[in-house]
Amino acid sequence: MKNLPQFLILLLLPLLQVHAQKKEIGKTLAVWEINNGSIKLDKGTVEDNKAKVYWEYMKKVLPNEFLAQYVVAFRLYTDGKEEDLGGMNPLDESNKNWQIELDYIDNDLTSNDPSMLEDMDHTIIHEFGHLLSLNIQQVEPTEDKYQDDERGYLTTEGYAKKDSYLGLYVAEFWKGDLLLEWDEIAMKGSRRRQKFLLGFYDNYQDQFINDYAVESPEEDFAESWSYFILNEKNEATSIKDKKINFFYQFPDLVAYRTEMRQHLKSLNMDD
Ligand SMILES: [Zn+2]
Repeated sequence: MKNLPQFLILLLLPLLQVHAQKKEIGKTLAVWEINNGSIKLDKGTVEDNKAKVYWEYMKKVLPNEFLAQYVVAFRLYTDGKEEDLGGMNPLDESNKNWQIELDYIDNDLTSNDPSMLEDMDHTIIHEFGHLLSLNIQQVEPTEDKYQDDERGYLTTEGYAKKDSYLGLYVAEFWKGDLLLEWDEIAMKGSRRRQKFLLGFYDNYQDQFINDYAVESPEEDFAESWSYFILNEKNEATSIKDKKINFFYQFPDLVAYRTEMRQHLKSLNMDD
């Protein structure tokens, strides 16, 4: 996705979705139960074998304690090539039980194309970014339909706590008018929304890592998080660089980065 030329990305923007979606997308191959970080494989089917390979790969890359604590299900699905690449969804209002999802055509572990694996790494790290920022420790469930500014930023899962990663991120990078402007666009019907989002991205290109990041503060966060994990540290000269460097202030996230980069390196050496 990140390797596509810019004009193509703009054309494909409405189709490229990897966000925390509520509604089930694509055709399900199967869903597996995850218990304390282990996948339940009892059917011995071709699908089971496939799921095992994906799950082991994700366990090698992503912090295992999060997977054990929150992830209770894994879904393989496809909506065809591109469009939706993956998802991370809470299964109930508690924000304690999550389902990770991968499109098995966009994330093909049997492919010999190295960019396929790079894209999959980006996708699973992006999805993990949603779990990191929207789990019950970070977000307070609420009945509120509209944001009460006193309580902070309202996500689909509830209010991002003020000292949460996302709460701090939004307070720093989505100040006042920017969030209001985005919010007005977000409330439009889907076709008009995409058109206005492209305009929003054009106006604020210096602030967003890519055009997908304007989808929402949550997507912006997950993209910056992915760049933080996958790229070398740079001096922050622009706002978009500052968004990537935002994560360096948290020693636990820096430790995850070091660990994840080591795992990615050893996986690449296995090839
Ligand atoms: Zn996302």
